[in-house]
Amino acid sequence: MLQVEGHMIFSKLKEGNMRYLRNSDPALRIDTAENGQHPYAVVICCSDSRVIPEEIFDASIGDLFVIRTAGNVLDKQQFGSIEYAVEHLRCRQILMLGHTGCGAIGAALGGEESDGYISSVTDYIRANIGSEKDPYHACRLNVEHGVNAIRRTVHDADVAGAIYDIRSGEVEWL
Ligand SMILES: [Zn+2]
Repeated sequence: MLQVEGHMIFSKLKEGNMRYLRNSDPALRIDTAENGQHPYAVVICCSDSRVIPEEIFDASIGDLFVIRTAGNVLDKQQFGSIEYAVEHLRCRQILMLGHTGCGAIGAALGGEESDGYISSVTDYIRANIGSEKDPYHACRLNVEHGVNAIRRTVHDADVAGAIYDIRSGEVEWL
């Protein structure tokens, strides 16, 4: 049964790529493949499937340098990715984007012990939100902590925070 489900999931991805090839214009791919990428913003956001930065900001190939982790948490690898975008791609606008209904924030607020590596996500968020109990404010604190951490670490860049509403589709700039 698992085998069948797994096969069907990959079929969906394969079919999706076929549709992408049929429906998209190759010009932009060829241009960016040959001339390199010049993204105008770095976006750090959650891995949540409802949070799609390219769609939220109506962006396309080569526009956004996106870093996604559950709960938009930051560690060495994420900072390394940000530094690469700033120093090597000259991308100077950095957005830390939290979102409503975040499962990682919910897990951190829940206070239960997490299994395996999940605790590295929830521990990080708990350290950022302290005793806050409200999901929206916890999300906001997590974003603000990320913004401040990036400002301390990465120089010569504009850093902003925002919260995406998964119901309305609106972005609230902090
Ligand atoms: Zn999330």
